[in-house]
Amino acid sequence: MPDPSIGFKPAPWRLTDTHFTASFLLARNAHRDAAVRWYTRLMRFQCQSGCIRCCEQKGHVYLTPDDIARLAAHTCLSRAEFQRKYLCGTAPLLRFRKPRGKQCAFLTDAGCSVHSIKPQQCRSFPYWPEILDKPSERKEIAAYCPGLGRGPLVNLTVARREANRLLKAFPQLYQPEEDGG
Ligand code: SF4
Ligand code: SF4
Repeated sequence: MPDPSIGFKPAPWRLTDTHFTASFLLARNAHRDAAVRWYTRLMRFQCQSGCIRCCEQKGHVYLTPDDIARLAAHTCLSRAEFQRKYLCGTAPLLRFRKPRGKQCAFLTDAGCSVHSIKPQQCRSFPYWPEILDKPSERKEIAAYCPGLGRGPLVNLTVARREANRLLKAFPQLYQPEEDGG
């Protein structure tokens, strides 16, 4: 669940340059309707109150050293104790250990129990590099996230800044794919 305080503000001027041109060009081809639908879904986002769907998806939550320090303090554990109890993997790619039958130990029926201090990866969703850059990923997210296509227009500069935070925090996860040839 992303942090609503990140504050993606409407940026209507962005619709007048690149995207207007893109829309105009798209309107000339046979896939106009589908393209416009995708465009609209990409350009609006508002996390929906009470929704926990992204936290229920299969996947891993990786933590930065700052994330670990914050969560350890919150749970009144030392960093080492927190790591033993809640994390697995090898530094620098430490991730949440999953309890049996759940995707995250901090997910409750009422939502994220560490919402205000949750990991950067959770705060940045859905502005992850792979989601911004790959239409196939966006399609997957759109299948379960009811916040896409709703709310204010996304400020793409802010979204890209969020994605860059993850790229910087976890370069090992975002290495360019090797060219098979
Ligand atoms: S799935 Fe989408 S709407 Fe639901 S909590 Fe996650 S980001 Fe918010
Ligand atoms: S830490 Fe919170 S936001 Fe992140 S996956 Fe767990 S429950 Fe969801």
